[in-house]
Amino acid sequence: MKRILIMMMVAMTTVSSKQLSKRATEERKVVIVGAGIAGIAAAKTLHENGVEDFVILEGSDRIGGRMRQVEFGGVKVELGANWVQGLRNNPIWELAQKYNISGKISDYDDVIIRNKTGNDVTDQAEEAWERLETAQEYLETWREQIREDKLPDVSLRVALKLGGWQPKTPLEKVVEYFDYEFEYADATEVTSLNNTGMNNEDFDEEEYFVTDQRGFGHIVDSLADEFLSPNEARRRLQLNKVVKTVNRTDTGVTFTTTDGSTYRGEYGLMTVSIGVLESDVIDFTPDLPAWKVEEIYQFRMGLYCKIFLKFPYKFWNDNEYILYAGSVWPRYAIWQNLEVPGIFPNGTNILLVTAIASEVPRIELQSDETTQQEVMAVLRNMYGNNIPEPESILVPRWLTNPLFFGAYSNWPVHVNTRDFEKLSAPVGRLYFGGEATHPRYNGYVQGGYLSGIDQANAILNCLQKGICKSYQSAVNQGTSAAPVFVVLLLPMTAAMFLVRG
Ligand SMILES: Cc1cc2nc3c(=O)[nH]c(=O)nc-3n(C[C@H](O)[C@H](O)[C@H](O)COP(=O)(O)OP(=O)(O)OC[C@H]3O[C@@H](n4cnc5c(N)ncnc54)[C@H](O)[C@@H]3O)c2cc1C
Repeated sequence: MKRILIMMMVAMTTVSSKQLSKRATEERKVVIVGAGIAGIAAAKTLHENGVEDFVILEGSDRIGGRMRQVEFGGVKVELGANWVQGLRNNPIWELAQKYNISGKISDYDDVIIRNKTGNDVTDQAEEAWERLETAQEYLETWREQIREDKLPDVSLRVALKLGGWQPKTPLEKVVEYFDYEFEYADATEVTSLNNTGMNNEDFDEEEYFVTDQRGFGHIVDSLADEFLSPNEARRRLQLNKVVKTVNRTDTGVTFTTTDGSTYRGEYGLMTVSIGVLESDVIDFTPDLPAWKVEEIYQFRMGLYCKIFLKFPYKFWNDNEYILYAGSVWPRYAIWQNLEVPGIFPNGTNILLVTAIASEVPRIELQSDETTQQEVMAVLRNMYGNNIPEPESILVPRWLTNPLFFGAYSNWPVHVNTRDFEKLSAPVGRLYFGGEATHPRYNGYVQGGYLSGIDQANAILNCLQKGICKSYQSAVNQGTSAAPVFVVLLLPMTAAMFLVRG
């Protein structure tokens, strides 16, 4: 009797825990991870095509991801994306205009260079700019040849060296830094020649520095407002849900978050950064296939840290950009005067200095006080000992934030279009988007936005027409060998679209 009672109790417990877990699992057509511009653009595309049964799981308490504004020194400043990069035909520029985002076209010619003793050496840099320009022309010709003749890729450093540019002095180094590292957030030694420059080619070189006090992220908020009404927002946008595990089956994908909630979608879409994917903080069951993991590990996160300083008064030059050709290279080399007309009002007294690549880990790990001392040492070199201490300092930490693990993806040498196809290809019903997966504009806001739309369309094709993307056929062709890839590209691309029964 006792035994029967125990068995009944066990059975009841099993039933109730099963019921409990069933109750806790939310079932949706599509589950999207990440409410940055990619996740929001994907959700909006689903909505516009009649799929309303989706949920967005966002690990933080807000939408916008790497488009983030905070209050500092009496104004709001952008911790992440700040420029609309390229205006002609750029969809982000179109959105910026649609939502009246205020800002200023950056004037990169309005620049002064100071050396380690504070002397203005801008004129001396003329000859260096000219030589760099010549090397750039060489670099661009070579890039065209690589693309046309399918030649092997090289790094920007190699191309610049062969073009006759090999920076040795602090002045030469800062000139190059301003043109390259400041853009790619990574060293020229590791950045691809073949794959850089596409953004400028497609959208021109003009860049719009957003100063809108609603934030660059107002674009993401406005896109979300078009399909998430405040009443239903909580149902379809779930904040503070950090995805920990992703389980795939033939019929769907189940996501578990750190608070124990479970969501199952017939389809899943990951839009987290490549930094998050390569950090292994999310467990995939079964493991992601080798061809996908290989691609995830191939890509790099560029590191970019915008340090804001609020002073009691302005003591620096009126130029928009102030470059420091210092002796400890490349410490605190690029400064922005945020009081030039069109940015913040006079009396705001805020300077922005950007640290890039190898500088960032040290800065993120040390205290803000130490960073302030380092920064002030450089400013004293440039402007003398009588300058005031800052009233406050703001040091964003993108690298050590487990929701990002870096600033934006940089395209390393040898990664080709095929690698992007694999990076963005679905694994069963699990799709992959986010800026890093866009083959032309990775690293930029437009890359995130367009990747979200592309991946949502791929899901829609599968869900509504039964035309489902698969990378298996391409994987069978092998992984590298760019010239072979060119021949195989068309049949491979055609084979990527398999009709699912
Ligand atoms: C410092 C900096 C400067 C930049 N400057 C520019 C610029 O000037 N111009 C430009 O065009 N681009 C710039 N970028 C790049 C641009 O911000 C990004 O390319 C773009 O915002 C990426 O959008 P996304 O939706 O792909 O990714 P994200 O914005 O990273 O969105 C992904 C979302 O996923 C969430 N997430 C992560 N892990 C989990 C998890 N486990 N569970 C649930 N949610 C999770 C994150 O919180 C995030 O909200 C900059 C970026 C940085 C950091």
